[in-house]
Amino acid sequence: MSKSVVILSTGEELLTGETVDTNSAWLAASLWGLGAQVRSMLTAGDDMLGLVRAIRTACEHGSVVICTGGLGPTDDDRTAQAVAAWAGLGLSESTEAMTQIESRYRTLGREVSAANRKQAMLPDGAIVLENRWGTAPGFSVGHNGSTIFCLPGVPMEMRHMFKAHIAALLSTSESPTLVRMRTFGVAESRLQTMMNGLDLGGADLGFRAHIPEVQIKLRFPTGTSADAQRRVVGRVSDVLGESLYSVDGGDLAENVIEVLSQAGETLSLAESCTAGMTSAWLAEVPGASAVLMEGVIVYSNESKERSLGVGADVIADNGAVSKPVALALAEGIRSKAGTTWGIGITGIAGPGGGSEAKPVGTVHIAVAGPSGTRHQTVVIPGDRNQVRIRAAGTALALLLRCRN
Ligand code: ATP
Repeated sequence: MSKSVVILSTGEELLTGETVDTNSAWLAASLWGLGAQVRSMLTAGDDMLGLVRAIRTACEHGSVVICTGGLGPTDDDRTAQAVAAWAGLGLSESTEAMTQIESRYRTLGREVSAANRKQAMLPDGAIVLENRWGTAPGFSVGHNGSTIFCLPGVPMEMRHMFKAHIAALLSTSESPTLVRMRTFGVAESRLQTMMNGLDLGGADLGFRAHIPEVQIKLRFPTGTSADAQRRVVGRVSDVLGESLYSVDGGDLAENVIEVLSQAGETLSLAESCTAGMTSAWLAEVPGASAVLMEGVIVYSNESKERSLGVGADVIADNGAVSKPVALALAEGIRSKAGTTWGIGITGIAGPGGGSEAKPVGTVHIAVAGPSGTRHQTVVIPGDRNQVRIRAAGTALALLLRCRN
C-alpha cells in the first residue's frame, strides 16, 4: 500500500521569501517516483507554537511527515523541541547523536562547541538518522500512528539523507514509471493539440513549461510493460517530430555537449543580445571543455566589425539585427576559432529598440558548419530575460537540428 505523506518545511526565511522552498519540490518529485502519495505541503516559521501546530496538522493529513530545517545549533532551530512537545516526550542529549557529531567534527578538524551539543538534544527514544554530509543528525519519532522524519534544511544534506534513510522505507511495488520528453520551440497549447486523440496506452499526460522548453510527462501506471511504453513513446515522438530533442535525457546544453563530444566536434559562439548566456549555459555541463572552444560577446556594432570582420556596410545596409549579420557572426567565429561549428546570435531583447519591421523579441540565429550555414529568425514573446534565454535555446536547438 502506498503511504500518505505530508511535507513540512520550516524556517522563518521561507515565510519572508528570502529562501525559495526547493526542498519540498524535490521531496515531492522523489516521493512521487517511489509511489508514495503526497497529501499536502505545509510551511512553518521558527516559533514553537506555530511549529507544534504545523506538526499536528501534518499528522492529521498523512501517516508520514517529512520535516526539513531547524536542526542547527542556533536558538531559532527548534524542530527537536517542537517534535518532543507534540509527542509528549522529554528532550535529552542522545549519546548516539553526540558520538556522530564528535566524529564528524574530528574528521573536519574542528572543535565541538556548546552550541553544537544542542544538535544532539533529541526527543527521548528518537531514532537517530546519521548525517554524513553535514553536522546536524536527523531523527525520526513515531506517535499516535504517525511517524515524523526530521532532516536538515540544507538541500544537499537533506537529499542525501532522504535517499540514505527514508526512500527505501517508503518505496512501494506500485511505483508508476515516468517518461520525460523534452521539446523546444512549440508552445504548450500547440503541444496539447498535437497530443489530442493520440493513443497513450493508459498513461497520464502532463505538461511542464520550463523556460525555454516544454516537457511532456507520460506517467505509466504500474504493470505497464516496457514494450507498451516504448510503443507509446514512439507514437508521441512521431507526432512531435523535430521539436522533440530528448527522451529522459538532459537539457539542450547537455545534449549539445554530449552529441558533439561523442562525434569529436567543437563549437564557438559569437553572441550579441545573449551576451555570453549560451556559452555560460554550455559551460555548466561537465565535459564542456572538449566541445566549447571560444565565445565572444560582440554587443556593439564596432565589436562585431573589429572582432569578427563583419562589414560596416553589411550592418549599415541590413541593421545589426539581421540575417546577413547573424551569418557573418557564425561564419566569422567558426573560421577564427577553427571549430567544427560556429553560432551567431543577434537580436532585440527589449524593452526598447523595437520597430514595426523588427519588433522587440526579433532574433536572428545562424549556425555555420561543415556543409554550410543555416539561419533561423524568431520573434520571441516575453520580457528581456525570456527573450535572451529563449534565443540561447533556439540557437542550441538549431545546432542539434543541423547535425541530424
Ligand atoms: P543548519 O543549522 O546546518 O543551517 P538547519 O537544519 O537548521 O541546518 P536551516 O537553518 O533551517 O536548516 O536552513 C539552512 C539553510 O538551508 C537555509 O539558510 C537555506 O539556505 C537552506 N534551506 C532551508 N530550508 C530550505 C528549503 N525548504 N528549501 C531550500 N533551501 C532551504
